[in-house]
Amino acid sequence: MPGKIPHHPLTIAGEAYAGQSRYEVVNPADGRVIATVAMAGKQEVTLAVQNAAERFRGYLWRSMRPQDRANCLLRLAQRIREEAGELADLESRNAGKPIRAARAEIEGAARCFSYYAGAVDKHFGQTMMPGSRGRGAVYHEPIGVCGLIVPWNFPFLITAWKCAPALAMGNTVIVKPAEATPLTALRLAELAQEAGFPDGVLTVIPGHGDQAGEALVEHPSVRKISFTGSTETGKRVGRAAADQLKRVSLELGGKSANLVFADADLDECIDSSVWSVFDNSGQDCCSRSRMLVERPIYDAFLTRFAARTNQLVVGLPREETTDLGPLITPSHRARVCGFISTAQDQGAHLVQGGEIPAEAPLGDGNFLLPAILVNAHPSHKIMQEEVFGPVVCILPFSDEEEALSLANDTAYGLSGSLWTRDYDRVQRLVHGLEAGCLSVNSSSSVHQEMPFGGVKHSGYGRELGMDALAAYSQTKSVFYG
Ligand code: NAD
Repeated sequence: MPGKIPHHPLTIAGEAYAGQSRYEVVNPADGRVIATVAMAGKQEVTLAVQNAAERFRGYLWRSMRPQDRANCLLRLAQRIREEAGELADLESRNAGKPIRAARAEIEGAARCFSYYAGAVDKHFGQTMMPGSRGRGAVYHEPIGVCGLIVPWNFPFLITAWKCAPALAMGNTVIVKPAEATPLTALRLAELAQEAGFPDGVLTVIPGHGDQAGEALVEHPSVRKISFTGSTETGKRVGRAAADQLKRVSLELGGKSANLVFADADLDECIDSSVWSVFDNSGQDCCSRSRMLVERPIYDAFLTRFAARTNQLVVGLPREETTDLGPLITPSHRARVCGFISTAQDQGAHLVQGGEIPAEAPLGDGNFLLPAILVNAHPSHKIMQEEVFGPVVCILPFSDEEEALSLANDTAYGLSGSLWTRDYDRVQRLVHGLEAGCLSVNSSSSVHQEMPFGGVKHSGYGRELGMDALAAYSQTKSVFYG
């Protein structure tokens, strides 16, 4: 007998609201409804913003002793760790994540809160002597109410990336999770309360992007928007924020390249490169969806890459052995399949994968076998647009110049990798590649301690590292005569 499906009302200032509508949250692995959630409309967003603005003006949070604010963040990290098993299970069922990956992301979120707990009292201002007498002081102040808009691919982790530095700086925050994946963010709000955060400092309002999301961006009392999502929506958010001269950071899509030179350590490179594109079933803004391989090793690379891809276990997210889970929704899978067939129509060759498993249990979910394409032309849609699914294009290049030109030949500039033993070449390429984050002889894009974000159509602003503190604060210069 299936249990009762839980319902999550909206909680604003400790009060429960029915919201504008009710949304069914579905497990992407089997299509079953796992919860229903109240969705905020403009009215509920207004209420949440008014409450958060009042809390900000009330000084309770921003003027709390830094050590006390840090302790709230530390206790939240601790509560996340205590509930890690439940949170990982929830994230896995809601986003279709393999359970091992979900556990790692929950721990990553806990680490993020701990990191910014340690940073609360280390974002120092400056003092100076601008003239022959008097003193200048530059203070870092919180901005106010921050609207944090989150996508569905790393729901809990990205929520933590935004909340932790914003809260550390003394802002009050309103999180708008993606429609499909609100459950762990809702749980975070409960954990924050248990960790001793004052009411109204962290509010989570599930809602549709074109309703709750837009209302949040347009509300004049929201002073900063931090958006992660698609480039198309990001441009809309940027335009709306510009109308009110609102601060905004945009973490958008990617079409990252993986450059493999003939002198690379192929054993390490192939194992790592397979994960660099297929991790999270390719639903990763940093996915290295364009593999560029130096001609002398192209055939060997392709054969070994295909063989290693075949070893990936596409399976039910709850199984410990699963490497790739389902895509988020049936319509998203259909979009990804559309990319593959358009690429084939344009002349690309599908080496393997791209099939939808028909048999139960995978047949009940949004699964798709990882696809490898060759012979795509750099101008093809598949080489230019973000697919956001388990699809890679592999292309040969002849020399460093061609590699660089191919790598930079997209509108995006988020991430990328470089595999070579030649460190003179590394130095030339790291500065030539148009990307906000790069990894050399590695596929790792994100480190808590380092700023993360893109250039070109991958957006602007940075998450993580100490840069994120600057993104959630503003300076005030005071001259003491
Ligand atoms: P999306 O743009 O459809 O939605 C992102 C969020 O914005 C959701 O919460 C959505 O409800 C909200 N939204 C939609 N329309 C809105 C509007 N008009 N105003 C305000 N909010 C609105 O993206 P998605 O499909 O949820 O996520 C996938 C995208 O996110 C991919 O393009 C991926 O590359 C990108 N992404 C980027 C990063 C990064 O750090 N650069 C990280 C993860 C995902």
